[in-house]
Amino acid sequence: MTARILDGIKIREQVFAELAVEIRALGAEGIQPGLAAVLVGEDPASQVYVKSKIAACVQLGLAGWVHTPAASITTEELLSLVARLNEDDAVDGILVQLPLPPQVDTKRVLEAVDPAKDVDGFHPVNLGRLVSGRTGLVACTPAGCMEILRRNDIPIAGANAVVLGRSDIVGKPMALLLMHANATVTICHSKTRDLPEVVRRADIVVAAMGKAGYVLAEWIRPGAAVIDVGTNRVTDAAEAERLFRNQPERLAKFRAKGQALVGDVHPDAANVAGALTPVPGGVGPMTITMLMSNTVKAARLRRGAPAAVVHGAPARGTR
Ligand code: NAP
Repeated sequence: MTARILDGIKIREQVFAELAVEIRALGAEGIQPGLAAVLVGEDPASQVYVKSKIAACVQLGLAGWVHTPAASITTEELLSLVARLNEDDAVDGILVQLPLPPQVDTKRVLEAVDPAKDVDGFHPVNLGRLVSGRTGLVACTPAGCMEILRRNDIPIAGANAVVLGRSDIVGKPMALLLMHANATVTICHSKTRDLPEVVRRADIVVAAMGKAGYVLAEWIRPGAAVIDVGTNRVTDAAEAERLFRNQPERLAKFRAKGQALVGDVHPDAANVAGALTPVPGGVGPMTITMLMSNTVKAARLRRGAPAAVVHGAPARGTR
């Protein structure tokens, strides 16, 4: 069997097209949703992420601002910047790019963001809303995984879903979204016993561990849907041989570049799974996509109107 590829880039295009319609409608009402990014210091990876987020804003016609305080900023100074953005009516979404420098109390800063502008969905108020099934802003990566499942007509209601990882930003919200969509959900973590056996029972596997190619093909139930959130850079040649033993083209590419991006699921799983997100090109493109969607949703919700299109919600007709 060769798995159907769940193409995140294609879904990004669909969601962007829907957002463009909604943004035009908001424009006709005199509203331009806006995202303010806070980029502390000069971490190159964070700079790249923020740049692509603002580029997506520009592409869609959203307003985007970047605040770049120095790496030496104190918690109090950052809190006062967040307070200013909370007050600024032009700002619908606030994004504090992580990680913050060690002297800054990250939890305090994230909890200071107005939950109505918390487009990352990290605020405990939004997590609480998700737990209780109320409308709120949902963390972008798990919301993107739901879009992938929904738009590919993968049945969720009644399915056995296994989520590998229990982080606040991926694993936990993912499990909650699947549960609200009526899946029977098992959450696994580093202390889970007999992981292969648990994974074998899954109709849907969501891997978010940060361990390159850890989930082996023989763990996957034939025909299962596999959502691979893991994004791991491999530079070790022996590890690349293990991962790409049946993919000579990828191995050749690795040898030429000295590195490769791989998920948490071994690439051979494509021979067993029914459907699978590639890495790169699967979940990755969906995270910024859902950030854009959340910014538009926040602009609507802040003005008391329901969002016209809600991305990342449980599958249609399941609740
Ligand atoms: P994280 O905070 O490090 O959490 C990893 C989770 O995996 C933890 O709950 C951990 O268990 C669990 N885990 C680790 N080793 C395990 C094992 N051997 N067996 C079972 N569970 C294990 O990571 P994260 O932030 O959730 O991110 C996970 C992955 O997704 C990373 O590769 C990250 O780069 C990627 N990611 C991608 C995107 C995207 O846009 N594509 C967005 C976010 C994250 P414990 O709780 O017991 O430690």
